[in-house]
Amino acid sequence: MRDLTRRLDLCSINTATLGHQAPIGPMIDAIARAGFGALAPWRRDLEGEEAAAVGRRIRDAGLAVSGYCRSTYLPAATRPERQAAIEDNKRAIDQAAAIGAPCFVFVVGGAPAGSRDLPGARRQVADGVAALLEHGRAAGVRLALEPLHPMYAADRACLNTLAQALDMAEAIEGPSAADPWIGVAADIYHIWWDPALCTQIARAGAAGRLLAYHVCDWLSPTRDMLLDRGMMGDGVVDLKAIRAMVESAGYSGAVEVEIFSAENWWRRPMAEVLAVCAERLQAVC
Ligand code: ZN
Repeated sequence: MRDLTRRLDLCSINTATLGHQAPIGPMIDAIARAGFGALAPWRRDLEGEEAAAVGRRIRDAGLAVSGYCRSTYLPAATRPERQAAIEDNKRAIDQAAAIGAPCFVFVVGGAPAGSRDLPGARRQVADGVAALLEHGRAAGVRLALEPLHPMYAADRACLNTLAQALDMAEAIEGPSAADPWIGVAADIYHIWWDPALCTQIARAGAAGRLLAYHVCDWLSPTRDMLLDRGMMGDGVVDLKAIRAMVESAGYSGAVEVEIFSAENWWRRPMAEVLAVCAERLQAVC
């Protein structure tokens, strides 16, 4: 396993961690100044900006991009709505390419409002991802399916385990694609509890489908389903053990910090949050 001591160049900051307090420019500067090697922006950070210019600013700051967040939900009640989501995701993939992101993160959506058909929603996700594969390949952007904790199955993602995401990737692209363009984003918050974690991380790595690794911590108790993620070291997850699995599976990309924390970290100044991230990445991740 890589030693992260004095290796913040191996680490990335997902801009959500900074609570969207500042425009993208100042965030790029703050992340670079704090010594990190990469960042992962959100689409909201690019609103009103020219993607290519943001990409230049990122490169000029000496940063790489570890991913671009995130997809428009794919399931919808009608075919025109599903097609509109696909077109919107194509535009986002183009932005991902323009800023130099190696992958576009898919938070796939739950069942459409009023629907009880979860298996149907999952079929719609598979159809939507399949429809975007060629666009991703042409743009040079890999599609990173992020399974979310099952507590989000209704409203945010009906893709809930690594096994399910890998099954979907293989069903679309074939089980032994030599150069896969669909993979997974492994986010501690969503997968730490999974009894099959070790096997599925190894499977993802062996298939060349482990595209991103997101860290935070699971606080116990958790007070909010969405906005109470913990700083690494403040919760119950054995972060070093999981990174060992991820890296022994062949992952050599960034360790990306992604913390949604409305009541705590989002209320603190960016420089303080970045300093604590830097310290915890080196100490407990
Ligand atoms: Zn994530």
